[in-house]
Amino acid sequence: SSVSHETTSSLRKDDESPVHGLSEMIVGVLGGGQLGRMLCQAASKMAIKVMVLDPSENCPASALAYDHMVGNFDDSATVQEFAKRCGVLTVEIEHVDAATLEKLEQQGVDCEPRASTIRIIQDKYLQKVHFSQHGIPLPEFMEIDNLEGAKKAGDLFGYPLMIKSKRLAYDGRGNAVAKSEEELSSAVAALGGFDRGLYVEKWAPFVKELAVIVARGRDNSILCYPVVETIHKENICHIVKAPADVPWKIRKLANDVAYKAISSLEGAGVFAVELFLTGDGQILLNEVAPRPHNSGHHTIESCYTSQFEQHLRAVVGLPLGDPSMKTPASIMYNLLGEEEGEAGFKISQQLIARALEIPGATVHWYDKPEMRKQRKMGHITLVGPSMGVVEARLNSMLKGEGSENK
Ligand code: ATP
Ligand code: MG
Ligand code: MG
Repeated sequence: SSVSHETTSSLRKDDESPVHGLSEMIVGVLGGGQLGRMLCQAASKMAIKVMVLDPSENCPASALAYDHMVGNFDDSATVQEFAKRCGVLTVEIEHVDAATLEKLEQQGVDCEPRASTIRIIQDKYLQKVHFSQHGIPLPEFMEIDNLEGAKKAGDLFGYPLMIKSKRLAYDGRGNAVAKSEEELSSAVAALGGFDRGLYVEKWAPFVKELAVIVARGRDNSILCYPVVETIHKENICHIVKAPADVPWKIRKLANDVAYKAISSLEGAGVFAVELFLTGDGQILLNEVAPRPHNSGHHTIESCYTSQFEQHLRAVVGLPLGDPSMKTPASIMYNLLGEEEGEAGFKISQQLIARALEIPGATVHWYDKPEMRKQRKMGHITLVGPSMGVVEARLNSMLKGEGSENK
């Protein structure tokens, strides 16, 4: 159905006919990946119309969107054309053309969150500068322009040293670790050299990684989802446990840091705040995403209002929903591509077949046109009466023993 509505959608926007959904606003989403797809799923429950802009004709959101405009979300003319058809503009990826969003805002186009937020977040160095200016605790960091600068940073912060590309980073692509001064030049080269725009971070000696989804409505009300633990495999989010098994004091601190971080940004929507918990009980901010996030996928099954429904409520101006959990415990397991092509599909299919036998398990498959190694192809959410039971269910799924109830 990808391009079929294109001619009628602009008519419908200006149409004076009665409203049948929860909002008459057409929500335009820049990007049509799995996050866009799950936004469309949430939108369908409320009869909210979501249009996506994505260059790939068979992107994950395409089949479920009210409309799909095929085009680049980082191309100015395309984004401006897309904006004409939407009542509100939002994103499912931060690597969009922020300058165009700023221009559109000046012309009165409603962008949620604001272009200023996208601009700050899409450059991880600028993001770090912003949050440090707002008193948010984070690992020490420093811009580097050449090998001399990198060595100076290494002397100051020690090793291992985390080198990051400022822009276009996702799933750890854009991070390189130098274990010693000798490894600096190869790590920089692996990221594409200094011209790419690099900075370094002091190694965060974390005992756990935590994350908080924060929602802000158009009326500026703010709600936080329960703190979760995220477990990464080779820099990619792999497992999320909700709620995080940390003391009440840590949960409170994580919430406070997340709340403060999002309060420093403008616009409505959901935001994800990635955090490090150190051995001495400090919470440091890693990064923020201005959109629904992998650490919030569990909310579809385990919270009264999913992060996707919440994002839609926020951007169209409905009241925010209850973010609390309706199930005692849940685990989200990402289906990452293990092999290229057919072999990879087979491995995922075997795991999915086992998941279908597990009580409390829900399978999400993003229908991406190509299987690639380490690519997020889908996820499985398991819910249950306690974290112990959910962990046992995950283990039996991974071991292939089927349900623990059998
Ligand atoms: P995402 O897909 O979340 O956008 P990304 O490519 O932006 O990922 P980061 O979030 O910067 O990457 O880092 C990915 C992972 O690398 C973190 O979740 C953490 O496990 C590790 N990491 C990042 N920064 C540091 C640090 N300063 N010290 C130690 N580990 C770190
Ligand atoms: Mg990131
Ligand atoms: Mg991250």
